[in-house]
Amino acid sequence: MTQVDDQLVRQMVQTVLENVQSGWGGRISPQAGQSAAAPVTAARPAAVGSANKFGQFTDVGEAVAAAEAAQRALMRRSLAQREIACDLIRQICIKQADRLGKMEYEETRIGHPPHKPEKLVLVGSIALGVEFMRTECFSGDHGITLEEHGPWGVIGVITPVTHSLPTLANNAVNMIAAGNSLVCNPHPGGKAVAAHGAKLFNQAIYEKLGIDNLICVITEPTLESAREIFSHPAIRLLSITGGPGVVAAAMKSGKRAVCAGPGNPPVVVDASANLDNAARCIVEGTSYDNNLLCISEKEAYVVAEVWDRMLAAMEAAGACRLTPQQMDQLAQVCIQPGGEGGHPVAVRKFVGADPQVLAQQVGATAAAGCRLLFGQTGPDHPFVQAEQMMPVLPFVKCDTFEQAVGYAKQAEHGFGHTAVIHSRLVDHMTYMGKEMDTTIFVKNGPSLAGDSSGGEGYGSYSIACSTGEGIATPLTYTRLRRCVMVDNLRII
Ligand code: NAD
Repeated sequence: MTQVDDQLVRQMVQTVLENVQSGWGGRISPQAGQSAAAPVTAARPAAVGSANKFGQFTDVGEAVAAAEAAQRALMRRSLAQREIACDLIRQICIKQADRLGKMEYEETRIGHPPHKPEKLVLVGSIALGVEFMRTECFSGDHGITLEEHGPWGVIGVITPVTHSLPTLANNAVNMIAAGNSLVCNPHPGGKAVAAHGAKLFNQAIYEKLGIDNLICVITEPTLESAREIFSHPAIRLLSITGGPGVVAAAMKSGKRAVCAGPGNPPVVVDASANLDNAARCIVEGTSYDNNLLCISEKEAYVVAEVWDRMLAAMEAAGACRLTPQQMDQLAQVCIQPGGEGGHPVAVRKFVGADPQVLAQQVGATAAAGCRLLFGQTGPDHPFVQAEQMMPVLPFVKCDTFEQAVGYAKQAEHGFGHTAVIHSRLVDHMTYMGKEMDTTIFVKNGPSLAGDSSGGEGYGSYSIACSTGEGIATPLTYTRLRRCVMVDNLRII
């Protein structure tokens, strides 16, 4: 008979109790085929000490070293623990949305304040974690081959001012799910909220898992610190979310880069469309956060047959109409030449401004509840050609549907980002979809539906249109690794 070792039993009970008390729990979504009960190998988190940085760094080299150590620690943990880290970030986004959203607005001063917390709640609800990880398998006469999605290590991250913390939080969940850590150079205009959010995320992860610095932020970001990240030998992957300048810089770095670059999404309305629905959707998509979203409609093309009715429907949907002369005057104030690729660009101080402020620039009045200005322009108008990121939508009258799509394609500038159509004709949808060749193509809904708000499918604050990975997921931040068993393990 086996002798029971009292001492050993006491030790085992003590260990289990410690693990339960330290809160190894939470929502666990293991990788398909992986047990959620994977062994917890971590030591209990140490007390918070002066050595804890919680991801706050001024020096890129120190940040990368800390992120490397954190990533090595992460790789010693189970998938279930990775998912705990992801969920802690999501929960902070949801539970502290009001406070963090307010911080984001107060720092950046762009966009529509009520949409700031909404964006964080969305990240908390949609950011994909460990459950999205995959393993591919090939089984045949010569055995079994697995293809696993492994981490890159430390990822260099650039985030935009338009959604500073939402992008960082979304990237962090995806990247940690895939086994990476990150060093972020946020836009200087949104650096404080990015650093503060990272601090909260790191603190929560440290308290639960004992790992600090999975999400490192350069607290005083500059172009020089971005360059240091781009050239740091320990960073093998860059994740860029921003405009054409930073995408071009990252592509020149010599590193692999996932680039979520600019867009200039057109919307086409043909004669068959449900015009009231089209107008409601266009107002919703274009005005969201004062048109800061890269997927939001930036110019509209309407066939002549329904032109008058469509413009009336826009007014009925709450948009405020400007005259063509006012559109010209407003463009002179808000759009300037000299952007990348020869396209005009928005004047910074008007990016994400309220419609009322913009209307005032040309002596017009927009009612307090108005969320969008619109008016007729030609196809070459600055508001059409610029990614304006303000709630002003230029409308171009077109002789035919084909002409509308031709104009739309030209204005999208080959970014391959997003396009929208309102039509009941499948032929038209197919034609425009093929012509535009964009990453996202929305039919009969607001642009937002293309990135999980109102449409099916997952979403992300990084849509890698420039380099082709599409809407980012944890798999976007992985490298494929093959594991081959020759002539064996096939059991059928
Ligand atoms: P931005 O290009 O001015 O800045 C983006 C980031 O890049 C910032 O952190 C900035 O400091 C950095 N940066 C700029 N030039 C750089 C350079 N030469 N080297 C290194 N870093 C550089 O853009 P923004 O105003 O912050 O954001 C709006 C832009 O981002 C729009 O073009 C929008 O379409 C795009 N965007 C794209 C996506 C997407 O998922 N595709 C999402 C959000 C925003």
